[in-house]
Amino acid sequence: MALIFDSHCHYDDSAFDDDRFALLDEMFDGKVGFLMHASVDEKSALYGIDVSKKYENYYTSIGFHPENCGDTPDDFIKRLEALLPLSDKIKAVGEIGLDYHYEGYDRQKQIYIFEQQVEFANRHSLPVIVHSRNATEDTMEILNRHRPKGVMHCFSGSAETAKEVISLGMYVGFTGVITFKNSKKAKKACAAAGKDRVLLETDCPYMAPEPYRGQRSDSRMCDKTAAAIGEIFGISPEEAIRLTSENAKRLFNI
Ligand SMILES: [Zn+2]
Repeated sequence: MALIFDSHCHYDDSAFDDDRFALLDEMFDGKVGFLMHASVDEKSALYGIDVSKKYENYYTSIGFHPENCGDTPDDFIKRLEALLPLSDKIKAVGEIGLDYHYEGYDRQKQIYIFEQQVEFANRHSLPVIVHSRNATEDTMEILNRHRPKGVMHCFSGSAETAKEVISLGMYVGFTGVITFKNSKKAKKACAAAGKDRVLLETDCPYMAPEPYRGQRSDSRMCDKTAAAIGEIFGISPEEAIRLTSENAKRLFNI
C-alpha cells in the first residue's frame, strides 16, 4: 500500500492540544507514511525539531511565516543558523513568503524577511516552502531572481502561474480545496503543473477536503485529496498517493 506524504502540516496548532500524540501514533500506524511540519516562527520550529526526534518519518522545516513579520526578531537569520545543527530532520526552510491579504502587515518588511530566508535556504541547499497570498507578482519576482528549490504550498494561482513555478524547477502543493466542487481553477493549475510536480498537503488543521469540509483536518484525509488529483491525471487514488509521495521525497531529499 502506498503511504501518504503530507507535505505541509501544523500539529503544533492548539486545535490538536487534546489528542496530538494519540492522533500522530494512530496515523503513522495506518495510511500516513511521512509528515513535513511547516514552521511559522522559532517556537514552532523548536516544536518540529522536538517531535521529529519522536517519529522516524516526521520531518520539519524552520522559518518565519509572513503573518508573523511584526514579531520576527531582527536576528532571525542568526536564529535559523542556530537551529540547523539541532536535527538532521530539518529538510526545508518554511513556511516563508508574502501575504498581502490583510492590510496590517508591512510589505517591505515581509519582502526583506522572505528574501533573506530564500538566500539562507540556498546557502544551505535546502528547499523552501512558500506561502503566497494575494502576492503572486512579488513572490514570483523573488523566486525568479534567487531560483531556490521548493514548493508553492496551498497553491491558489492560475494555470499560467503554475507553469511558471514548474519552469523554475519548483513544485506545487494542493490541499483539500481541490476536492471542492467550485475548485476549477485549482484543478486546471494542477493539470498544468503535471503529475511529477504535485504534492499532497493538508495545511491542517485547516482546509479539510470533502466530505469533511469545515472540520478539523488531519493527514489521513489526504486520501480524498489524492483521489481528486488522481481524477485529474486519470490515475487511481493509490497511484496518486504513490506519485505525490515520490515527488515530496525527491524535493525534500528524503
Ligand atoms: Zn501552513
